[in-house]
Amino acid sequence: MPEQAKPCNAITVGEALQNWTQQVDRLEARWMLQSVLAVNSAFLIAHADRELSPTEAARFRQMLKRRAAGEPVAYLTGERGFYDLILKITPDVLIPRPETELLVETALSNIALDRCSRVLDLGTGSGAIALTIAKHRPLAQVTAVDLSSRALAVAHENAQAHAVDNVTFVQGDWYSNLPAGETFDVIVANPPYIAEGDPHLAQGDLRFEPDLALVAKHNGWDCIRQIITHAAGYLHRDGWLLLEHGYDQAGTCRELLEQAGFASIFSRTDLAGIERVSGGQRGSFSIAECL
Ligand code: GLN
Repeated sequence: MPEQAKPCNAITVGEALQNWTQQVDRLEARWMLQSVLAVNSAFLIAHADRELSPTEAARFRQMLKRRAAGEPVAYLTGERGFYDLILKITPDVLIPRPETELLVETALSNIALDRCSRVLDLGTGSGAIALTIAKHRPLAQVTAVDLSSRALAVAHENAQAHAVDNVTFVQGDWYSNLPAGETFDVIVANPPYIAEGDPHLAQGDLRFEPDLALVAKHNGWDCIRQIITHAAGYLHRDGWLLLEHGYDQAGTCRELLEQAGFASIFSRTDLAGIERVSGGQRGSFSIAECL
């Protein structure tokens, strides 16, 4: 039988995972190898004896090296699961976090399935929030805003990849470029809320993520304040404003919502027991009508 032409030092999937991955998380190593081979997790288990080509081996080693140096795994593999979608992720967008799923759940519970609600997502980034809402509320019309054209390009690709056609993308600074007179049933936002110079910015994934998506002036409050202050003018009567915020910002968010004339103000805790999402309903006698 003729010898198969194969490199004498070829390494298998099982060996690569066993021998090369000491410096990174075990699960992340598997995600990276899946990404290099363009296969799913079941494949890695079923084909532990599949040999890596020299190119695949080199790409995997390079990814492991970059991960060990701190780069976020989502930027290395170019994707991240959020809610029930796999999203394309680049260093132009914040990596979607599990706690943001609480914001999506809260929004979904305020958006009827059987009518055409209008939803606004401010600072959409990868489109995680807007696309998940749009997918689960096919009758809704979602407008997704971001200041970054590069982020919008990623969000747009994600919309196409998931065949979502009920999201409109707008480049702008919060409400500034919305069509005149447009109002919404629900406004959602996961805005930047970390203070400039916060030590967390020098740790973990945050070191590699865009400041535009993370950092807000005035000790982390600038964006949340702008969004709350102007929201009533863009909400239908009884419409909801729902915001993700930092671990210690819920109380002040509720105060800001109250000052802006919101009713039924609430906060919800994430899986870690931290108040992470706050919101309120535009009252009938909201400030917007008095102005
Ligand atoms: N939740 C992110 C973090 O603290 C920050 C996201 C944001 O600023 N919106 O890691």
